[in-house]
Amino acid sequence: MKAVRISEAGGPDVIRVEDVAAPAAGPGEIVIRQRAIGVNFIDTYHRTGLYPIALPSGLGLEGAGDVIEVGAGVERFKVGDRAGFCSGPIGAYAEMHAVPAARAVKIPEGVSDGIAAASMLKGMTARYLLKRTFPLKPGEFAVIHAAAGGVGQIAVQWAKHIGAVVIAVVGSAAKGEIVKALGADHVIDSSHEDIAKRVREITSGEGAHVSYDGVGKDTFNASLDCLRPLGMFVSFGNASGPAPAFEPGILAAKGSLFFTRPTLFTYTRTPELLQETADDLFDVIAKGIVKIAAPTRYALADAAQAHRDLEARKTTGSLVLTP
Ligand code: NDP
Repeated sequence: MKAVRISEAGGPDVIRVEDVAAPAAGPGEIVIRQRAIGVNFIDTYHRTGLYPIALPSGLGLEGAGDVIEVGAGVERFKVGDRAGFCSGPIGAYAEMHAVPAARAVKIPEGVSDGIAAASMLKGMTARYLLKRTFPLKPGEFAVIHAAAGGVGQIAVQWAKHIGAVVIAVVGSAAKGEIVKALGADHVIDSSHEDIAKRVREITSGEGAHVSYDGVGKDTFNASLDCLRPLGMFVSFGNASGPAPAFEPGILAAKGSLFFTRPTLFTYTRTPELLQETADDLFDVIAKGIVKIAAPTRYALADAAQAHRDLEARKTTGSLVLTP
């Protein structure tokens, strides 16, 4: 089968598509013939070495398709089921992938493989951020960075459904139109606006209750400066590079702020937490509360181009590879 492999860390050019042996289901595993593979920013961190992985390696944590083999001891899945996964093991950029059944979820009728691969990792992230890391309440001001991106588009819609006042930060006017259409109350275009200053204006000088910041380095100061006393700085990603090290005293100086650096893996660390998170996501998708835009599709062989476009801020919504 065809699979993406990297043998060194680096730019998108380290991505190679190779012929490798098809996987077999070990005990507790299922093999999925993938119809769609999710592309996530974390895949670029694995590729560059920002998050070191053992090399040579495959890439990718997320996929959806048909179960074609079931390993010993697996009871929750049978051959022919549709299944998805979004927490690895690394190597999802391939025609088939062997996954621990405990890390896989059943995909409901009515959710296509493409929509599942476009929404599981990003949607479960939006879910834990908004409902567990800082449980948003109606009327609270929430700053959502990279709001037109994969996680961002889902988070904007879900936060609106909760009743929050959404301040969406985007990098261009075109992306601003997208988040307005999704219901964002306020849009800040970071290409020419001062994020913290605009948040202060919007919140009558008070600041926001929470900043959900997956951009990292470039928005670190803006997130610190846009919060009200006791506000929550949720630093969950590094799209522009990692957030800097800082003195805890800065949180005191800015108003006894809270800071957390969460990961999806912690919030879905047991099969029960994973399934609960997935069920909630698929429920809001089924009810039309969160609409998943048709993902931008790339052939598996064009995985490097998908990474280039994602890193160049050219994309909106989700990207999937088609094997
Ligand atoms: P996105 O589709 O959101 O793409 C990243 C976006 O970040 C870009 O489109 C761009 O939007 C913005 N951005 C700002 N500055 C830069 C820069 N210098 N380089 C690249 N992008 C920049 O990606 P994902 O939805 O896959 O992920 C969003 C973030 O969430 C990532 O940081 C990712 O690592 C993180 N994440 C964290 C998880 C966790 O559990 N901790 C789980 C899942 C994702 P714009 O042009 O509008 O500024």
